[in-house]
Amino acid sequence: MLYFKQFYSLFITGIILALIHTGCADDQHRVTELSVDDFYFNGLLGSHGAEIARVDTNHFLITLDHAPDNPQWPNKVNFEIRQNAKGNDLTLEVEFEGGPGMSFNEYHQSWSYDGENWQPIHWEKGFRDSPQYDILEFPVFEEDHVHVGTQVPMSFETAEAMKQEWAEHPHATLHTIGESMQGRPLYRLEITDPDSPVAPEQRWGHYFANQHPGEHNSHWRMVGMADWILSDEGDEFRQRNVAHFIFFMSPDAPTHGWYRVNEEGIDMNRSYSPEGSDPDEQTHEAYEFQTDLEELMVSETPITTIWAMHTWQGIVEPLLRVGPEMGTTLGPWEDFAEIMASNDPDELIKPLAVRDSPPGFGPVSWSDGPHHQFGITAILCEGGSTFYTSEKNMESGEILIRSIDEYYNIPKE
Ligand SMILES: [Zn+2]
Repeated sequence: MLYFKQFYSLFITGIILALIHTGCADDQHRVTELSVDDFYFNGLLGSHGAEIARVDTNHFLITLDHAPDNPQWPNKVNFEIRQNAKGNDLTLEVEFEGGPGMSFNEYHQSWSYDGENWQPIHWEKGFRDSPQYDILEFPVFEEDHVHVGTQVPMSFETAEAMKQEWAEHPHATLHTIGESMQGRPLYRLEITDPDSPVAPEQRWGHYFANQHPGEHNSHWRMVGMADWILSDEGDEFRQRNVAHFIFFMSPDAPTHGWYRVNEEGIDMNRSYSPEGSDPDEQTHEAYEFQTDLEELMVSETPITTIWAMHTWQGIVEPLLRVGPEMGTTLGPWEDFAEIMASNDPDELIKPLAVRDSPPGFGPVSWSDGPHHQFGITAILCEGGSTFYTSEKNMESGEILIRSIDEYYNIPKE
């Protein structure tokens, strides 16, 4: 009996091996090596002006172009392989000749077959050793179509689809407050319980916005926040608070690979007008969003906390400018810091710290500007670029929003 079993399993193994072998031979027959025509730089995640040249079999060199009006700022390495990827590996050299301004390889890259499920891929050299040239080595692809982008990517359209889905919840409203320079909608997602027993005047207002469009990990951080607010756990939050989300202050950026700017080449986190919105002083999208913020400030529920959502190296790093509710209506800001730490057993977030004044980017930035103009609590929420998945980023956002829920736990006076 044992003998028969061994013989039988050998027989089956043989058949499987034969099948695999046939499969491989068949694939090898079909695989066409990649050519420059397979690469596309103008998709939903693109890299404006990038050029590609063949170096060797499945080995290419991408030369990046720069952001509008900023010759030292490379566009991000975003592209698609639109066909023929299956069965090929890929060696990609990337260079930028714009001078020592900013590095395209400061953060990790990701790749995906569907533009939704991303996996990280890391630069071989890193920006500290090689700020103008680097290499990505991709494994053999199993499908023909491949998307590549920076951090954990998010296109404007992906964000738009999520916002439209959230807006189906009766407590969420998607406002279009204007249009970008290239005609994309400027969205603000608002979440609150319209039937809450807490009067609008007694609710806390929170405003979360991304200024630098290439800092996608901060987009996913906001996804984690919005998801939680609209979950059952967020019931009480929605009664006591009004949350606003701006995913892209520069919605024209992702398709061009602009890291920090809009079409005019303005750094979107240097676009605030601390003396008040001004169409002559400000770039278009910044003016539109600041006008909208100023309207919220005179609404029934003005903004209590404004969060500028960014990324830099390391875990999430919230830097605080203290507002008037801290240590008066609510406990001191240190209570908020303690709540945050207690919600964060895996240490995804650095201890909340008060920003040394004046360092920071000054009142033209979207954290300092509103603090300067209105005296409100402002948080520059940096870090988080070393999270390599959307899930980790979302988890960090959930910790932040749960902490806001716990600290702002009584109605406003
Ligand atoms: Zn930033």
